Amino acid sequence: MAARLDEKLEPIFQDVLHRNPGEVEFHQAVHEVLETLGPVLVKYPEFADKKIIQRICEPERQIIFRVPWQDDKGEIHINRAFRVEFNSALGPYKGGMRFHPSVYLGIIKFLGFEQIFKNALTGLPIGGGKGGSDFDPKGRSDDEIMRFCQSLMTELYRHLGEYTDVPAGDIGVGGREIGYLFGQYKRITNRYESGVFTGKGINWGGSCARTEATGYGTVFFTQEMLKARGETLDGKTVVVSGSGNVAIYAIEKAHQLGAKVIACSDSGGILVHEKGIDLATVKRIKEVERRRISAYTEVHKDARYVKGGSLWSVPCDVALPCATQNELNGSDAKTLVENGCIAVAEGANMPTTPEGIQIFQEARLSYGPGKAANAGGVATSALEMQQNASRDSWTFDYTEKRLEEIMINIHKNCFETAEEFGSPGNYVIGANVTGFIKVARAMDAMGLI
Ligand code: GLU
Repeated sequence: MAARLDEKLEPIFQDVLHRNPGEVEFHQAVHEVLETLGPVLVKYPEFADKKIIQRICEPERQIIFRVPWQDDKGEIHINRAFRVEFNSALGPYKGGMRFHPSVYLGIIKFLGFEQIFKNALTGLPIGGGKGGSDFDPKGRSDDEIMRFCQSLMTELYRHLGEYTDVPAGDIGVGGREIGYLFGQYKRITNRYESGVFTGKGINWGGSCARTEATGYGTVFFTQEMLKARGETLDGKTVVVSGSGNVAIYAIEKAHQLGAKVIACSDSGGILVHEKGIDLATVKRIKEVERRRISAYTEVHKDARYVKGGSLWSVPCDVALPCATQNELNGSDAKTLVENGCIAVAEGANMPTTPEGIQIFQEARLSYGPGKAANAGGVATSALEMQQNASRDSWTFDYTEKRLEEIMINIHKNCFETAEEFGSPGNYVIGANVTGFIKVARAMDAMGLI
């Protein structure tokens, strides 16, 4: 674990360690936020007196439940699912559902904790939450996915509501799963409550640009970081880890803004195409055929697939980690810096390890943490909720414009806060402090909650 915190914050962190044994990702996420809050407590001593940090570190409610389901052969499976309703000071709990075998309480808590500050940064009225299951969707048929989603929602529905808790997608949960989950919610409650779930299909209450939003938003944020150092994306070489929803739309926007994405990856290996990744092929393989990225070389003979290769050793100007937590460690960060990378923006949640972050900051490259850089996804979810509440639907162009404005604003707020707190260019401080102050003020105003 990273360095000791200052004397006010270290005991708070020790308490989090004791109360949440074994939840290493949660510890990491809390430590990263606490590291930046020392100067905030000096400026706002009332937050310390009223134990706002201790309260924020304890979820308001945690739900853990059994999900029994039957596979196509009739065999019974039992999975575990979670919904952590972390903080509702700014609005209903908001955050995705993740289906992945690595999911346990510690992963959902780290994601939910991040979500509190990320959602605050969007400037929209949403609290923080997260859910998921250790269910592995890989290799499962549509029917199996449907039965699993229906079983999960048969328990989860009682905890949701457009004013209570509003889930969305995350790793392993896309449009198909959201359809099955929303359908079951509608059936059980007998309510067409569009605003209870985001990421819905365009013709049944979804928002234009929601699918694209996380990836696009990450690139908008990157563009702002580059502007702040007198650069643009035009002509830059970019590498993007992952090849899921976030990665695909990060590649698309990077290309639209004149950059060249030369590499992406999946959990099996990396794909390098110096001519520039052909996104239509990636989309077909991943979104339609649901195959591995190695299939790309069947179409493009001049592309290189390296099984188990490290994406971060591919020289680039800009790196966008868009796969999963802790996918970029200290030695990867060193390699990126040595190869001349000038900006890193996180499309995934907590993809860089604490050692990696430290190396980026010492090298003074522009490092945009996920809380800020990938907030476009959840921000557009909040725009979807707005459209649902007013029974309206906006055009793609209008929604994308709103997303871009939100990302520009997040960048501006983080940039200015970092300056105000004496760390110009430090977006970690900028994001944590801006998000924290907003939530802390609301909690303070509401009494002992
Ligand atoms: N899972 C996404 C995130 O990590 C989106 C959450 C949402 O739209 O509610 O922010």
